[in-house]
Amino acid sequence: WKSIKIDGYGSVPKHFQHVRKLNPIEKKSILVSGGAGFVGSHLVDRLMLMGHNVIVVDNFLTGSKDNILHWMDHPNFELLRHDIVEPLQIEVDYIYHLACPASPVHYQTNPIKTLKTAFIGTLNMLGLAKRTKSRILIASTSEVYGDPEVHPQKEDYNGSVSCTGPRACYDEGKRAAEALAYSFQSQNDVDIRVARIFNTYGPRMKWNDGRVVSNFILQALRDEPMTVYGDGSATRSFQFVYDLVEGLMRLMDSNCTEPVNIGNPVEYSVLELSSMVKDTVKEFNPSCSSVLVFKHAIEDDPRRRRPDISRAKEQLNWSPKWSVQRGLQLTVKYFVSELEENS
Ligand code: NAD
Ligand code: UDP
Ligand code: UDP
Repeated sequence: WKSIKIDGYGSVPKHFQHVRKLNPIEKKSILVSGGAGFVGSHLVDRLMLMGHNVIVVDNFLTGSKDNILHWMDHPNFELLRHDIVEPLQIEVDYIYHLACPASPVHYQTNPIKTLKTAFIGTLNMLGLAKRTKSRILIASTSEVYGDPEVHPQKEDYNGSVSCTGPRACYDEGKRAAEALAYSFQSQNDVDIRVARIFNTYGPRMKWNDGRVVSNFILQALRDEPMTVYGDGSATRSFQFVYDLVEGLMRLMDSNCTEPVNIGNPVEYSVLELSSMVKDTVKEFNPSCSSVLVFKHAIEDDPRRRRPDISRAKEQLNWSPKWSVQRGLQLTVKYFVSELEENS
C-alpha cells in the first residue's frame, strides 16, 4: 500500500508501527461517516494513529477509497460501503457524522439527494447514537449563516439564508440537521456536539470540486488563467485541514454541547488568495505565468465570511496554528504529486 505523509507524524509506514497500542479500556469504536472524503480521511488518520477502532461508512459519492487505502488491511479498520439515507445498525461508542457533499458543484448536482443526506442521513445517525448511547458530533457549516449581515459571525447569529436559491439544498439541509440534533438532545438525551466548519483546504481536496483553492492551484500549475467570479472582492477565511481535525477532536472530547465555529479568522479576498497561490506555485514552477480572468459573479455567493472563534478558544482551548502560506505549500505539493502520478 501507499505510504502517506501526515505532518507531525512523518509517513504512515507500511507496517503501521506508529499506531499506538491502547489498553482495552481506552480503545473506542469510532464511526466516521463520510470517512473516505477530504476531511473525514484526515480524521481517520488521526484516530487510527491513536489506536482506536475506526469504522468508515461512505457511499463514495464524492469520497474515494484512495484516501483511506493505506488503512485497508489494518485490524483496527473497517470500511462499509453504505448510503446513510438508509438505516444502519452497528455498535459504536462515538460517531463523527461528516457524510455530505460539501462543495457547491457537488451539492448542487443532485440537490434532492443533498437534502436527503443532510436530513434523513443525519436522522439515521442520530437514531444510531440514541440506540447505542454514543456521543455524536455533527459536521455543520458556516453556510448556516448564509450571506451574513453580521461580521464576523458568532454562533448566536441566526443567519441570512435563502431557502429557494441554488445553495438552499445545502444551507437549509445543514440547518435542519442542527435542529434535528438539538431535538434528539432535548427529547431523547442524545449526547451531541455541533461543529460549524468554515472553508477548509488541504491535501486530498478533489481536483474537480470547483472550490477556489483547488481551482486556483490547478490553474496556476497548468499555466492557465485563474478564474475569478465577480470582481474578486468577496472574502473567505481559509482553514488548513489539520487545524480542523484538531478542532473536531477537541470538540468531541469537550463538554460543549452548543454549536462551535471551527475556522481560521484570518480573512482574505479572492484576489489576495490568487496572488498567494501564484507565489506558492512559483516555488515549484518558477516560470508560472498564470493571469487572472474575470467571470460573471455566481448567484447567492456570500460576500464576506469570517468566524468569531471566541467560543472555540474558551471552551476547547483551540485556535488554528497553520497560516494560509504554510498550508498552501503542503497543498500545492500534494497537487504537484497528484498531477505527476496522473500524467
Ligand atoms: P467530501 O465531499 O470530501 O466528503 C464527504 C464524504 O461523504 C464523501 O466521502 C462522500 O462520498 C460521503 N457521502 C456523501 N453523501 C453520502 C451518503 N448519502 N452516504 C454515505 N456517504 C456519503 O467533503 P468534506 O470537505 O470532507 O466535508 C466533510 C463534512 O464537513 C461535510 O459534512 C461538509 O458539509 C462539512 N464541511 C466541510 C467544509 C469544507 O470546507 N471542506 C466546510 C464546511 C462544512
Ligand atoms: N436508526 C438507524 N440505526 C439505529 C437506530 C435507528 O439507522 O441503530 C434509524 C431509524 O431507522 C430511524 C432513525 O434512525 O429512521 C431515527 O431513529 P429513532 O429510533 O429515533 O426513530 P423511530 O424508529 O422511533 O422512528
Ligand atoms: N471563486 C472564484 N473562482 C473560482 C472558484 C470560486 O472566484 O474558480 C470564488 C467564489 O465565487 C466565492 C469564493 O471564491 O466567492 C469561495 O468559493 P468556494 O466555492 O471555494 O467556497 P464557498 O463559496 O462554498 O465558500
